[in-house]
Amino acid sequence: MLWPNKIDAHSHLSFLQSEQVDKLIDNSETLFIQGGYDLEDFKAQLKIKNKYPDRIQISGGLHPWTFKEKSVEQIEQEWIDLKSLIAQNMCFVGETGFDKSVPVPKDVQYKYFCEHLELAKKLDRPLVCHIYGHHDLALKALKDLSGPWRGIIHGFSGSPELAKDYIIMGFLISVGPGVLKPNYKNLVKSLQTIEVEKLVVESDQPTEPGSPYLSGMLDQVSAKIAEIKGVSPEEVLQNSNKNLEGLLL
Ligand SMILES: [Zn+2]
Repeated sequence: MLWPNKIDAHSHLSFLQSEQVDKLIDNSETLFIQGGYDLEDFKAQLKIKNKYPDRIQISGGLHPWTFKEKSVEQIEQEWIDLKSLIAQNMCFVGETGFDKSVPVPKDVQYKYFCEHLELAKKLDRPLVCHIYGHHDLALKALKDLSGPWRGIIHGFSGSPELAKDYIIMGFLISVGPGVLKPNYKNLVKSLQTIEVEKLVVESDQPTEPGSPYLSGMLDQVSAKIAEIKGVSPEEVLQNSNKNLEGLLL
């Protein structure tokens, strides 16, 4: 298959109105890899996939943010339904992981992270990980459940050591709009050490339900990474495409 000339490692087209999706697809040549949010979100992704099968790679998962909106019983039922839909459709598994900013017990986040890992292993699918804080727990689960793992650590902003830990586990490091913020010093240090073979670029647009789609983000992020690494933006994007092609379904 001939892929579009850009691959966005992480976005959420399902957070947009269908007319906005049509416009975005018509006006770009990008292949959009998705992050999953919850069951309803996965169904929305399936609709987009039906309409534009070559322009989107979907992902099913329970994002750590959804746990704050649902009861334990709701989460469990939703996961059972989602698991069967994931098995029936070629898709990534995730977003899954940890978020220290949500008021959800760590053990709940840990339990569902492990569930996602086990499902990805069983189905041999790539993972989309959202890990903001609690990296010790994420790495413990990845070690205890022993991979091999493949997929992306989306929105990475950690230290060079942390990047290395995830790369050793089999992951690609995905960098998004965080790199444009002036205070992400750890990320700058990491980018200086991460090899282009392990680095991918994401727009993370729209970042959350209800937020706008900021166009041109993939180019802006690539340009900033290029500046930090002393290479050209095209080289960053081309390597990212190549690395992501290895994960496509
Ligand atoms: Zn996301």
